[in-house]
Amino acid sequence: MRKMRDFEFWFVTGSQHLYGPETLEQVAADSAKIAEGLNSSGIMPCRIVLKDIVKTPAEITKLFKDADYDEKCAGVITWMHTFSPSKMWINGLKDFKKPYLHFHTQFNREIPWNEIDMDFMNLNQSAHGDREHGFIGARLRMPRKIVVGYWEDAEPQKKIADWMRSAVGVAVSREFKMVRFGDNMRQVAVTEGDKVEAEIKLGWDVEYRGIGDLVAYMDKVTESDIDAKINEYLEKYDMDTDNTEAVRYQAKTEIGLERMFADYGYSAFTTNFEDLWGMEQLPGLAAQDLMSKGFGFGGEGDWKVAAMTAIMKAMAEGLDGGTAFMEDYTYHMPAGNEHVLGAHMLEVCPSVASNRPKIQVHELGIGNKKAPARLVFDSKKGSAIVASLVDMGGRLRLIVNDVEACNPLNPMPKLPVAGVMWKPLPSLAVSAESWILAGGAHHTVLSYDITAEMMHDWAKMMDIEFVHIGKDTTIEALEKELFWNDIAYKLK
Ligand code: MN
Repeated sequence: MRKMRDFEFWFVTGSQHLYGPETLEQVAADSAKIAEGLNSSGIMPCRIVLKDIVKTPAEITKLFKDADYDEKCAGVITWMHTFSPSKMWINGLKDFKKPYLHFHTQFNREIPWNEIDMDFMNLNQSAHGDREHGFIGARLRMPRKIVVGYWEDAEPQKKIADWMRSAVGVAVSREFKMVRFGDNMRQVAVTEGDKVEAEIKLGWDVEYRGIGDLVAYMDKVTESDIDAKINEYLEKYDMDTDNTEAVRYQAKTEIGLERMFADYGYSAFTTNFEDLWGMEQLPGLAAQDLMSKGFGFGGEGDWKVAAMTAIMKAMAEGLDGGTAFMEDYTYHMPAGNEHVLGAHMLEVCPSVASNRPKIQVHELGIGNKKAPARLVFDSKKGSAIVASLVDMGGRLRLIVNDVEACNPLNPMPKLPVAGVMWKPLPSLAVSAESWILAGGAHHTVLSYDITAEMMHDWAKMMDIEFVHIGKDTTIEALEKELFWNDIAYKLK
C-alpha cells in the first residue's frame, strides 16, 4: 500500500480569456501565492502542486484527463479567482474519477475601501465565479468537497488537510489487496459480505488462502530471525512472562506473515480461531505488532473490518492518536455514567495504548490451541470514532459513531487483554439503539485521528451509504434517514 509521501494534489484556478493577458497574469500570480500558502501551513499531509490556470474547454478537459491518469495525483482542488463559465468544465468533470475539492476562497481578505474600482471587482469575483462553478458540480451530481474560508486561516486549511487524508484513503482503497486465512466464523452474519460488490465500489481485492500457506512461510523462519524479532519487541514492549516459547511462536508467526505479505502485496489479513490447522496459537502479539505498523486485521474472518482498519490507518499516517481494530465487548451501566468497554480476544493495536504494553501469555479458552502471547495495555483518553462497514444486500453502509474515550474507570487486574473505555455520543441509550437500528457490527475500527467528517467524505467519494451517530442524533430522525436511504438506494 502506498504512503502519504507517494501522493500529491493538483491546485487549479479557472478563468477565461475575457479579461485580457494582464488580468490573467495576476490570476496566475495570486494562485501561486495561495498554493504556496497552503503548502507552508505545515498541516497538509501531501504536497499541493500548482497547475497552470485554465481558460478554455480544451485546457480543462486535458487537465482532468491528465489528473485521472497521473499515478501520484490523489485529487484536484479548484478555485475561481474570476468568472469561468461552467459549460467549459463539463467534459473535464463528467468523466473525472478522482476526489475533487472546490475551494471557495478569495485572494484578498478585505475590501480595499479607498482603492476599489471596477478593475478590482473584475479580478476578485470568486463570490460569483465560484457559484457558477458550484452549479455545474451540482448539475453533474458529482461527489465533491466544498471548503469555504479565507486561505490563510487555520480552519479552512484544516478542512483541506483532512479531506486530503480522505482522498488518500480513496486512492489506497482502489489499489487495496488483502488475504483472509480460512473463511468467516461459522454462522456469523455481520462479518459476511459481497466481495464482488466491495471490489466494484471500493477496489478491494480480498483473496482467500488456506492457513497452510502461512504455515509454510513460518516453517522457513530461523531461530536467529526470531531472535531479531524478539529484540524488536523488547524495544517497544515489556516482557511480562516466563513463557518465552509462546512469545517466540508469535515472533515466528509475524515473520511468516510479513514475508507472505511482501510477496503478494497484502495490506491486511483475517484469522479465524476455528481454522488454525497446523498452527499452535492464534496470532495475538503477531497481529498486534503488525497493526502497529499499519497493517489491517479482522478477527473471525471479518475482512471488511480488516480492510477498513488498514485504510483508516493509511488516512491517519503521521498523526499520533491511534487507530485500532475494536469490538464492543461489555458495558458499565450505572445510570448517568454508562460506558462501553471495548476489546478483543487478543488483537487490539498498541497505537491506542496510554502506557507501555506488556507481553503476557494467557489461556484463550476457545479454539483448543496453546496459550497465545499478547500485548496488554490501557487505552488513551480523547475524542474518537468507531466505524463499521456492513453489507445491506445490494449496497454497503458505513456507520460512524462519535465517542469520548477515557482511561479505565478502575484497574482490571484479571483482564488478560488490552481494552478501551468510552462514552458513546449522544448517550449509550441513543447510540446503541441507533447502531442496532442501522445494523452496525460488533467489530469496528476505533480511531482517535479520523473524524466522522473524514469518513463521510471518504464514503461520498466511494459512493456508499453513510450513517453518522453523534451528539445531535435522535432516534426519530435516524429512523426516517434509514427509511429514506432504503428507498433512495432502491431507485439508484
Ligand atoms: Mn470478534
